[in-house]
Amino acid sequence: MSLSNGRSYLAIPGPSVIPDQVLQAMHRPSPNIYEGELIKITDSLIPDLKYVAQTDGYVAIYIANGHGAWEAALSNMAEAGDTILVAATGRFGHGWAEMASNLGIKAKVIEFGTHFPIDANVMEKALRADIDQKIKAVLVTHVDTSSSVRNDVHAVRLALDACHHPALLAADCIASLACDIFEMDNWGVDIMVAASQKGLMVPPGLSFVYFNERAKIAQASLSRVSSYWNWTPRIAPEFYYEYFCGTAPTHHIYGMRAAFDMIRNEGLDAIFARHETLARAIWSAVECWASGNGKMRLNIQDEDHRSRAVTALSIGAPHGLNLRRWVEQKAGLTLGIGLGMSSPEDPKGDGFFRFGHMGHVNAQMIMGLIGTVEAGLCALNIPHGPGACEAAAKQIALAT
Ligand SMILES: *Cc1c(COP(=O)(O)O)cnc(C)c1O
Repeated sequence: MSLSNGRSYLAIPGPSVIPDQVLQAMHRPSPNIYEGELIKITDSLIPDLKYVAQTDGYVAIYIANGHGAWEAALSNMAEAGDTILVAATGRFGHGWAEMASNLGIKAKVIEFGTHFPIDANVMEKALRADIDQKIKAVLVTHVDTSSSVRNDVHAVRLALDACHHPALLAADCIASLACDIFEMDNWGVDIMVAASQKGLMVPPGLSFVYFNERAKIAQASLSRVSSYWNWTPRIAPEFYYEYFCGTAPTHHIYGMRAAFDMIRNEGLDAIFARHETLARAIWSAVECWASGNGKMRLNIQDEDHRSRAVTALSIGAPHGLNLRRWVEQKAGLTLGIGLGMSSPEDPKGDGFFRFGHMGHVNAQMIMGLIGTVEAGLCALNIPHGPGACEAAAKQIALAT
């Protein structure tokens, strides 16, 4: 028997759950793209985009997913032959570095593995070793969605400052924006990339490149920048089509407006607190299950370095795959695959899976998720310790 009929829940780390308000705002005929409401609404997104990143800097909007934002940011910070330094704490750090390499940029990758955060001392050492100060930018992932590590981005700024290195600091906040605390200006971040389909609760298709005055000046000294990715016309469009270098993403603009109305209404502090509590509920449930299963563990041991938006865990192959299949087919819950977690014993990473808990997620959804996983563990005879639902409920009770 299947118990999956009813509203399904896509609990993967992006795309995230889309609020009804966003869906309804997008469900409309195509608007005029030359004048009127659409232009005003587009302008109104800019202060909200800056609010969620805590910045007074600039933001360019692209019709692209996160990979597009990566390429956009790279195209405005470096050119073929330049050198950048990339800190990798999971699949996404490597992805950004590979994209740079394919643009002819020399990406030096410092590998921190898939269970640990960036060590700012190691970054500082690498920067000090760059005696000619050839490194133009340092790329870090705030939350690496594959490992679910949360990095201390500000510590990397302090490392740059400690050795008086002029490189730009660029951060990938695609998985963390509006979920985990991020303060672009206070933390000294020069360039930041984000996308619509995670904490911002809108379907994939829009991405954002934020930058400050330093990055703007550095960009002006590049010998050339691709017309499409160039951020300059997008931040001060003389004509509306320059915002997007062509036709506007009409329906996404209505969706973003509705999402930002919700974000403003709740307030960033309350949003961060909600993500914190729901993440803690999930961690405490996993710890209970793990007490009865030697192979089950949260991927990141240090709480301070865990994402509040996504949780990666191991359960031992092939249980991860089987559990994901069971909860989807029998209960209407879709969990994230293990990404970048393959090992010689588990070549496909089937022992891993991820919970996405970003954006439009509340306590009953997370309790449903935990209860459903518990049912799957029982149905599949996967060893697990008791008390997960109660432990999670206590975290929620404690916070309210
Ligand atoms: C999702 C994600 C990306 C890639 O975004 P796409 O929209 O899939 O291209 C990059 N970096 C991080 C940290 C992400 O979470």
